[in-house]
Amino acid sequence: MVDAGKLGPDQSVSALSGVGPQIAAKLARMHINTLQDVLFHLPIRYEDRTRLSEIGALIAGNSVVVVGQIELAQVVYGRRRSLLVRISDGTGNLTLRLFHFSRAQEKGFRRGAWVRCFGEVRRGPKSLEMVHPEYRISSERPTGALEATLTPVYSTTEGVSQLLWRKITDQVLKQTLPVVPELLSTDSLPPTISEAYAASSLQSALQHLHRPSAGCNIEDMASASSAAHQRLIYEELLAHHLSLRHSRQQQQAEAAPGLVAASPSADKLLNELDFDLTAAQQRVLAEIVDDLCLDTPMLRLLQGDVGCGKTVVAALAMLHAVDSKLQTALMAPTELLAEQHYRSLKQWFEPQGILVGWLASKTPAKQKNSTLEMLASGELQVVVGTHALFQETVEYHNLGLVVIDEQHRFGVDQRLALRSKSRAATVPHQLVMTATPIPRTLAMSFYADLDVSSIDQLPPGRTPVETVVMSAQERRVDVVKRVQHACAEGRQVYWVCPLIDESDVISAQAATDTEQELAAALPDLRVGLVHGRMKPVEKDKVMTAFRSGNLDILVATTVIEVGVDVPNASLMIVENSERMGLAQLHQLRGRVGRGSAQSYCIMLYDPPLSAHAKHRLQTMRDTSDGFVIAEQDLAMRGAGEMLGTRQTGSLGFKLADIMRDQHLIPYLPAAADRLLTHQPQQAAALIERWVGTREGYVNA
Ligand code: ADP
Ligand code: MG
Repeated sequence: MVDAGKLGPDQSVSALSGVGPQIAAKLARMHINTLQDVLFHLPIRYEDRTRLSEIGALIAGNSVVVVGQIELAQVVYGRRRSLLVRISDGTGNLTLRLFHFSRAQEKGFRRGAWVRCFGEVRRGPKSLEMVHPEYRISSERPTGALEATLTPVYSTTEGVSQLLWRKITDQVLKQTLPVVPELLSTDSLPPTISEAYAASSLQSALQHLHRPSAGCNIEDMASASSAAHQRLIYEELLAHHLSLRHSRQQQQAEAAPGLVAASPSADKLLNELDFDLTAAQQRVLAEIVDDLCLDTPMLRLLQGDVGCGKTVVAALAMLHAVDSKLQTALMAPTELLAEQHYRSLKQWFEPQGILVGWLASKTPAKQKNSTLEMLASGELQVVVGTHALFQETVEYHNLGLVVIDEQHRFGVDQRLALRSKSRAATVPHQLVMTATPIPRTLAMSFYADLDVSSIDQLPPGRTPVETVVMSAQERRVDVVKRVQHACAEGRQVYWVCPLIDESDVISAQAATDTEQELAAALPDLRVGLVHGRMKPVEKDKVMTAFRSGNLDILVATTVIEVGVDVPNASLMIVENSERMGLAQLHQLRGRVGRGSAQSYCIMLYDPPLSAHAKHRLQTMRDTSDGFVIAEQDLAMRGAGEMLGTRQTGSLGFKLADIMRDQHLIPYLPAAADRLLTHQPQQAAALIERWVGTREGYVNA
């Protein structure tokens, strides 16, 4: 028996059995330091190993446990060597398929032996299959108990297995959970929410999310609609709102360098662009420049649909900094995206003799050092990169404006770092760009009255992408012909395979197979491949080749989702589109239709389509308006059948989804007021719990 409370919420993760210094260091990189951090590291999804399914009743797409007897195991040499194992339970057959296997594994699948396995059911060439299932072989029919709860799956990092996650969360659930303090009381909340609170204590809510009992179904968990979910989501949103308020207050107390209102360099760039700004771009640029001229720091959200032209607006604003003899930095969340911006800025700035620097974590030391020196001396005025831009070793001479792309929350992590780096007694202005539209009023409440600029218009001359939806089984051959045809006209093609998670073997495999299939079917065309398991260097190589026209077809897992700008690409094929969310499909499709040629998007699906999937694909076919799509998305959330990383991840939430949970937002400002007036310590504790100390709020 362990004593409840022996492991208090503030204790270090090293107090847990199974966590040595190495694991602790890995967890620290995920910002998990204390036992409270572990308790609030909530599963990203669940698997159901509580029930046994009959093979005869399996449906492709479901992840299930089955038991069967081995009928046949053989290694086949197709395009790829694989081990196929046919099992049967009397109701039907299922094939287990392994691409990577040892001699011992191969031998283990003896005819007549029993196997219990868990995996996703997929449609194979001949029958239903499980690719790389988890399995256990036994000589007797296995009768051991199934799991008592749904199996949580935690977001993780290399070297920390799901098994270990379960082991450490078991410990904190037993010992830390009983002593974790309630920070909000039921009576301090609006009635609709306090019902959810009354129905679920913090402790039972956390217990439910970490270990949902066997009766729960996965769809309900994914829709996050239970009282337990609502309670935690509300707390999380409130914590973020509080921290934003805090950071805004701090920001307003600071001074910023006022920039020049008139920028000759910006005027020159405007002249040299081969397009005119849209009215919307002009309007938001004016809003931004007005702010930049003030000596209080700007904190502005620039939102606009994919392809509306946010980058050039940011670039023009940056030139105001340059002409004010100040430095300016543009940060993107991924290296791929940052590189895209680097190229754009170079192309726009260097003809005017304005140097553009580059800084990413994998930049070679020598080059990095010289960039760092030039930033410290002020010789370099413009720099583009990833989070590396704000690491401790980076010292700016006089940073005036920071632009952060594709981030929904303010770059508060960087805020303090920026001030301490800046030698001047000022903090830089901040512009945050996002393609995820949330209604303006909600953005204002949530972001604590920050300023919002919206580009609500696409550049002229864009022909909307024509979208067709078809069954992969019936039409694949036609689709390959379309690809061939587009390439014959000198166009380029994206072929997108769904991605389950970044490190996922099966997605990578599917993409690899597709690449080989296309290369075989279209021997005259150059086919490239990028997927999440490739090294960044390899990915870059392929992306560069595609961008410069040295590849005709790019097969990719959804890594191209954000930010790639290849105007010559006019056809996109999306496989298993029925399993992707609307927001994701919209982002993906935004990669074509960037040039003057008519572009097409073919959304393939594996029948049969569920009602929700049908509705989603119809929406995609019928509209290209990001706001309409976001609304539909909201209306249809919770179908629980979609793949892919949740939106929460990219927004920096553990649980909340600002679109899905927007009904909670109107309550936040008043709740925050009450808390700050009557229980300021609780407010600080909430921020620490949900937002963490990494933002520096606690010490700020
Ligand atoms: P996003 O808002 O999604 O970041 P980008 O800034 O990448 O969009 O712009 C998409 C493309 O449109 C780029 O190739 C850009 O140069 C181009 N573009 C931007 N503004 C205009 C405009 N006013 N007219 C024509 N093309 C434009
Ligand atoms: Mg962009």
